[in-house]
Amino acid sequence: MTQTLAPKPWIDAIAPYVPGRSTTDDGRKVAKLSSNENPLGTSEAARAAFMAGAASLDRYPDASAADLREAIAAAHGGLDPARVIYGTGSDEILHLAAGAYAGQGDEVLFVRYGFSVYPIAARRVGATPVQAPDADYATDIDALIAHITPKTRVIFLANPNNPTGTYTSGAEIARLHAATPADCLLVIDQAYAEYLEAGEDDGAFALAQSAANVLVTRTFSKIYGLAAERIGWGYASAAVVDALHRIRAPFNVTTAGQMAAIAALGDTGFVARSREHNARWRAWFEDEIASLGNQGLRAVPSKANFSLVLFEGKLTAEQAYKGLMEAGYIVRWLPGQGLPHGLRITIGTEEEVRGLAAVIRRMVEAAG
Ligand code: PMP
Repeated sequence: MTQTLAPKPWIDAIAPYVPGRSTTDDGRKVAKLSSNENPLGTSEAARAAFMAGAASLDRYPDASAADLREAIAAAHGGLDPARVIYGTGSDEILHLAAGAYAGQGDEVLFVRYGFSVYPIAARRVGATPVQAPDADYATDIDALIAHITPKTRVIFLANPNNPTGTYTSGAEIARLHAATPADCLLVIDQAYAEYLEAGEDDGAFALAQSAANVLVTRTFSKIYGLAAERIGWGYASAAVVDALHRIRAPFNVTTAGQMAAIAALGDTGFVARSREHNARWRAWFEDEIASLGNQGLRAVPSKANFSLVLFEGKLTAEQAYKGLMEAGYIVRWLPGQGLPHGLRITIGTEEEVRGLAAVIRRMVEAAG
């Protein structure tokens, strides 16, 4: 009998993650508006701290990330540093959550237009991904609650959500948590939370502070401009944090990354400028798309640093994607996520936003 090496069947079932592209098919480097990075770059203080980290390239990083946890806890209204978990991007934390709480025979629940890592994290551990329907692209809490079964072990809810940019209120999240069984972990993925306005608080940290089964995740990849360093973190009960620590890689956040992240937290001016830039140009862009509404275009109302534009007229999303690529703008076309009619477009620099909107307008007029 011949024996062949085969991955587990649930690994075979994984559709690979498709990263945002940064070059065209013919190798041209163009404006990259496909991965929701910060168009203002990185804070100078964070960059300097990162460079200082090179002084200890020969040593393993602090495996307990003590200074980083202290800085995170202090910057977020006095969280308990012992309950901060950190990862190689918040992606790792999502995988740790699925790995610690779900396995074969279990279900992992999220919304239909959810972050594409959730089904991968579920399948990787042999669990079944379950998708609840949306309500006109927004998260439908009633639909999520209706899809909770005795097998549900993890619920992923991104707020704001990617790729839709939609926001779920604190009252709705509290309602979902009230319906979440005690043996199921509710993960509130706040990768874009720093783009919310002051006073917009979904209550996730307060929930994680008191509930045993809530994990909040955050990232340094978006507003903090440190996507290349791969640093994310989470906040949960001591028991959840303990479980995640057991299965994380021992030295999962680099020294330079820890130093850069601490400095980035301290540069509140850079964060405020990034938030203001995003709010201003997102609003401008949404107005531009609204003015093309009679041609079948609409932008899903976004609270994040990107906009999901739906093409429901003569110009298709695929044509727009290709035309933008030709013109020097890479955005995210999402047929693999059930959105063949949608483009997710990162809010870039003023020049990029204006330039890209002008290209869309020209294409719409040519198609009309
Ligand atoms: N969650 C959501 C909703 C995201 O959009 C992203 C980034 N695409 C992540 C988590 C992961 O980000 P990172 O691993 O860079 O922290």
